[in-house]
Amino acid sequence: MELMKKNTLKNRYSRTARVLVLRNVHVSIEGREIVAGVTLSISPGEIHLLMGPNGSGKSTLLHAVAGHPRTTVTKGSMTLDGISLSKREPHERARAGLFLGFQQPVDIPGVTIGSFLRTVQNTLRTADHKTTISPTAFAAQLKEVLVHMGMDERFGGRTLNERLSGGEKKRGELLQMVVLEPRYALLDEFDSGLDVDAMRQVAHIISEQSKKGIGFLLVSHNPKLNDMLPITAVHVMGKGTFEASGGPELLVTIAKKGFGP
Ligand code: ADP
Ligand code: MG
Repeated sequence: MELMKKNTLKNRYSRTARVLVLRNVHVSIEGREIVAGVTLSISPGEIHLLMGPNGSGKSTLLHAVAGHPRTTVTKGSMTLDGISLSKREPHERARAGLFLGFQQPVDIPGVTIGSFLRTVQNTLRTADHKTTISPTAFAAQLKEVLVHMGMDERFGGRTLNERLSGGEKKRGELLQMVVLEPRYALLDEFDSGLDVDAMRQVAHIISEQSKKGIGFLLVSHNPKLNDMLPITAVHVMGKGTFEASGGPELLVTIAKKGFGP
């Protein structure tokens, strides 16, 4: 009886536990297997770093978790706080608390960053049965966030990704994350094209958000990232699988020897 009670409690906990879990995930694009069995578990506040050579399948994995229509998950399971993601549309995954920052964000001419963010935020709020935010209130909120992030207050008036530098696009993706307050953020090459000062600010924001409980999966080529961010775990991808997973100490070897054996 006592044992039964314990098991029931354990099951209940595992169903509702706050964690993003990928189990033996396989992903294909146009019939070709790109990700061949990835297992990963990210708890709130953890920062996981995903590294590996170009073409190893890092972006494909992130796209599959977010539900990108080009990817097909052929095997394995993905759950967010106990909810299965597999059959959900990308917007439903966003509503469940997932955010994807793209390696190469697309330009959307005619749409300003401010109006885009307000629309997305209000859509998420409506889905959560919350009241929507007026343009004036949102403008004030956005300005506050931009100042906090060390960004130009007028950034919200720029067109979504059009004529933005590589570094500005990356900071724009991070801005979206801060405004939308997801539970788990997948940021693809979030640091490419950032100058030293911007990198420091971005690292500060990610640390701060992780302390608020956001779990991160960061793709980066920088093995020195641990100097700026409290990295929980490092995963090295090679041809679709994790060839190594470990603590930040793995970064020392990677910095010295690269990804080779
Ligand atoms: P990484 O992010 O690690 O550099 P990717 O996930 O972008 O790797 O790519 C992994 C493999 O999938 C590469 O061989 C790439 O050519 C292929 N691939 C990625 N996107 C597509 C696509 N849209 N169509 C066909 N092949 C793709
Ligand atoms: Mg990539």
